[in-house]
Amino acid sequence: MAPHALLIPLPAQGHINPMMQLAWKLVSHGFLITFLNSDSTHNRIHKANTLNSFFDNIRMISAPFEFPPLDSLEGIENRIESLIKGLGPSVIDKVIQEINAREEENKVTCIIADVWMCFGLQAVATLHELPLAAFHTALVSLFAIRYFSAHLVSLGILHSDGIPKEDKKTKYLPCMPALHSGDLPWLWAGEYMFRKGIRMGEEIKDIKWVLFNSFIEIEAPVVETLSKEVGVYPIGPLIPPEFLIDSRTSTKVLPSFRKTDTDCLQWLDKQCAHSVIYISFGSTGILSEKQLEELALGLEATQRPFLWVVRSDLMKGSEANLPVGFLEQVRDRGCIVSWAPQLEVLSHPSIACFVTHCGWNSVQESITMGVPMLCWPYFADQFLNRAYVVDVWKLGLPLNANSQGIIKQGEIVKGVEILQESEQGLEIREEAKKLKIIARDAVKDGGSSWNNFNLFVTAMKRQPNE
Ligand code: UDP
Repeated sequence: MAPHALLIPLPAQGHINPMMQLAWKLVSHGFLITFLNSDSTHNRIHKANTLNSFFDNIRMISAPFEFPPLDSLEGIENRIESLIKGLGPSVIDKVIQEINAREEENKVTCIIADVWMCFGLQAVATLHELPLAAFHTALVSLFAIRYFSAHLVSLGILHSDGIPKEDKKTKYLPCMPALHSGDLPWLWAGEYMFRKGIRMGEEIKDIKWVLFNSFIEIEAPVVETLSKEVGVYPIGPLIPPEFLIDSRTSTKVLPSFRKTDTDCLQWLDKQCAHSVIYISFGSTGILSEKQLEELALGLEATQRPFLWVVRSDLMKGSEANLPVGFLEQVRDRGCIVSWAPQLEVLSHPSIACFVTHCGWNSVQESITMGVPMLCWPYFADQFLNRAYVVDVWKLGLPLNANSQGIIKQGEIVKGVEILQESEQGLEIREEAKKLKIIARDAVKDGGSSWNNFNLFVTAMKRQPNE
C-alpha cells in the first residue's frame, strides 16, 4: 500500500505554491497525494491552468465551502476565522472518512497541514490514528518570533496587544537580527494577528513534525533555539529539481490563481546577460497611483530593460494606471505581464536583479537562482525577510520611502545603479552566487534539508504498528 498524504494548504498563492512543491517531492518518494482546497479556490486554480497538468498521483479535491483565495487582505480577521471553521477539524474528519470508505487500497496514512490550518487538527489525526505534520511556508524566524512573543510581553518589551513599548531598532530575540519596532510581523493586522500567532505556537508545540520551507544554513541560530521547544525540520528550498540544475524548464505547473504569461520568456531570450530588472509584488502587493507612477518613471529613468508584473489588481481601487506616454517611451526595452512564470524568469540568464516585495517564496526563489534583490516590503513577514536579505545575508539593498511613504523614482535608479555598477554591488552579487550554492547543497543528497526530508519520509512510511 502506497503512503497517502492528505495535504491541506492555506488558500493563498504564497502558501499553495510551496505546498504543491512539497507534494511533488513526496510523489517522487512514492506517495499518493490528496490536495484539499475550498471549492472556490479549487475552481479558480482549474480556470487559470490546464486541467490534469499538475502531476500523476496528485488528486486535487475540494470541500464544499466557498472561500475565495486570500489575494486581498480586506477583512482578514473574519476571513481567517471563517476559513478555520469552513475547512476545520469536522470537515477534515469527514474528508478522511469519505476517502477511506472509497479507497480500500489507498487509505489516508498521514496529514500535512499548513500551520494556519492546524487549529484543532491533532484531535482528528488522533481519532484516525494518523501522524500529523505542520507545514510552515516561511522562515523559521517568523515562527520563532511569534512563538516567543508572549515571553516578550512578560519581559516588558511588548505591550499585551503586541505593540512594542519602545520605537527603536531592537534585537527582540538574541538569535535573530535587530528589527525596527514597526517591522514586527503581526502589526499590520493588530492584536488579532498577535494573539493568533501565540495560539499557533501553543497548538504546534504538540505536533511532532514541523516542516519549514527554509534551510538551516541561513538561520542556524534560530533553528537551534527553537528546536529546544518545537520539532523543527527545515526542508527547503522546495524548488523543483530541474531548476536546481539550471535546465530552466519544467513540465510541472504551479497551481496559480491567474493565467501565466509565458511569452515574456522569449522576450528575455533576446536580452543581454544580466541586464534585465525583474519587478514583482507577489500575489497581494498593492501600490497607490502616485507610487505606481514613481516606479514607472524610475524604470524609465534607469534606461535598462525590465520585466514588470502588473497584476490587474496591483493598483488600489482600479486597473493599474500607467503614466501617459510611459508605454511608448519604454516600448523597446520594457515587457509588462499580468502574471509571470517566476521560477523560469528568475533562472533566466538575462535577469540582473529583482525588485521584490520580499514575500518569502520570492526571496527564497531569488536566493536559489542567485539573483540579488532590491527590497520593497509592505506587510507581514516581508520586513523580517528584508532584514535577513539586507543585514544578514547581504544579498540586496533596501528601497527607502520618503517622509510621505513614497519610494521615489531616484531611489529606484540609485538602487539599480549601486547593484549593477558599484563595488558594493559587486560584493552583493558575489554573496548571491555563494548563497545560491549553499541553498542548492541543502537539498542535495546528504544536505541538511535532504536529511530532514528523509527522516520525515521514513517516519511517514512506517506503518502505525511497526
Ligand atoms: N509568482 C508567480 N508569478 C508572478 C508573481 C509571483 O509565479 O508574476 C509566484 C512566486 O514565484 C511565488 C508566489 O507566486 O512562488 C508568491 O509568493 P510570495 O511568498 O513571494 O508572495 P505572496 O504572494 O505570498 O505575497
